Amino acid sequence: MTRTLVRGGTVVSATGSQLLDVLIDGETIAAVVQPGTPVFGADPATLAEVVIDATGKYVIPGGVDGHTHMQMPFGGTEASDTFETGTRAAAFGGTTTIVDFVVQTPGVRVQDALASWHQKAAGQCAIDYGFHQIIGDVTDESLKGMAELVAEGVTSFKLFMAYPGVFYSDDGKILRAMQTSADLGALLMMHAENGIAIDVLVAQALQRGDTAPYFHGTTRPWQLEEEATHRAIMLAQVTGAPLYVVHVSAKQALEQIAQARGQGLNVFGETCPQYLYLSLEEQLGAPGFEGAKWVCSTPLRARAEGHQDELWRYIRTGDVASVATDHCPFCMKDQKEMGIGDFSKIPNGIGGVEHRMDLMFQGVKDGRISLERWVEVCCTEPARMFGMYPRKGVISPGADADIVVYDPDGHTSIGLGKTHHMNMDYSAYEGFEIDGHVDTVLSRGRVIVDDGRYLGSTGHGRFVPRGLSSNLI
Ligand SMILES: [Zn+2]
Repeated sequence: MTRTLVRGGTVVSATGSQLLDVLIDGETIAAVVQPGTPVFGADPATLAEVVIDATGKYVIPGGVDGHTHMQMPFGGTEASDTFETGTRAAAFGGTTTIVDFVVQTPGVRVQDALASWHQKAAGQCAIDYGFHQIIGDVTDESLKGMAELVAEGVTSFKLFMAYPGVFYSDDGKILRAMQTSADLGALLMMHAENGIAIDVLVAQALQRGDTAPYFHGTTRPWQLEEEATHRAIMLAQVTGAPLYVVHVSAKQALEQIAQARGQGLNVFGETCPQYLYLSLEEQLGAPGFEGAKWVCSTPLRARAEGHQDELWRYIRTGDVASVATDHCPFCMKDQKEMGIGDFSKIPNGIGGVEHRMDLMFQGVKDGRISLERWVEVCCTEPARMFGMYPRKGVISPGADADIVVYDPDGHTSIGLGKTHHMNMDYSAYEGFEIDGHVDTVLSRGRVIVDDGRYLGSTGHGRFVPRGLSSNLI
């Protein structure tokens, strides 16, 4: 068992920042002490075989990305990052835990779907991982299966109000799944967009000849996100289910969540960096077929309507609980290209698992959020939300030694050929310049990234069985 000391840095937590030394023993944190304080009666430096100098740097818990889709089947293709490539890219960016989505499709038992995702991920991951379960087929058997999954550490279930004929659940099915969720104390996650109405708008747009990627955005107007979010909240209130609304992009949908929270409901919001930085006009509206790079659902919203600024504000107020990536990459070649001449055939998804910590740190530099809030929404809150706290998301004795040494005076240029390790042939954030840098990343006590060099290994990452959310009242 290696003992490692991370010395001289400022440890940042959700509640404050302080000059502290962190002693790691094997895979976990043994002590967090003020510099110069003896540990077990000795100078910690004499106890450690490895000393990492973090002078002038931030020492933060490893990032927890609560929403990824590695090698997910979608629209006749599969997300281009495997568990191996996607988790390695995540590590480069300072994320040390992901929670990925198991997909249950009609006719498949939820337990069998979970088993097949275990098979895909086992022995492949660079960092630790957990699973949420998508219930694509709400049946008596699936509902019974949910209890078994909770016992196996899969404690959150996702339903879709979008994608009729694929993942879609009608309100009756949602109600039943929420009742089961409420009984189990398990989190119900929702993709909240009115898919039935969207499909009509999509068909009408295509008929008019509006086939470019831009129309992916205009056929999914914010009203249909707000409406679905409101409906999900009402159904959650009727059933008593805790509700977590994924990838919120419309400010009006977040207003619904804020109101529900104001009433004391167990309702939580998630957003993603793409909705904070990118827009309908600039990205989806790029010339030709270029906009396909940014086709994702919910869609990027109009900057003229002010969604991006409002989303940042909701992060500050706490109505956005956690920032995840919804990492679901597809290459332009052969994948996004499937939708040339018909935007509805463009696979939905953006890759970003590598850049979340940096993009959100830029929010600190830009005066959008505090340093502590950065750590909270990227590390601590997702760990609490998804039942991994205090093993993940915090630097404290007994926690897994997942630690990032972050240089606030460093610099990161995002783009192909620069900092790009995801298996995609473009970067959704090409040309972004970040006023910070991930220096060193430790996963359970082992240095897996150091100054841009990968020192980890395939299969180091382990499955994290999760408990129930510690946020529920
Ligand atoms: Zn997703």
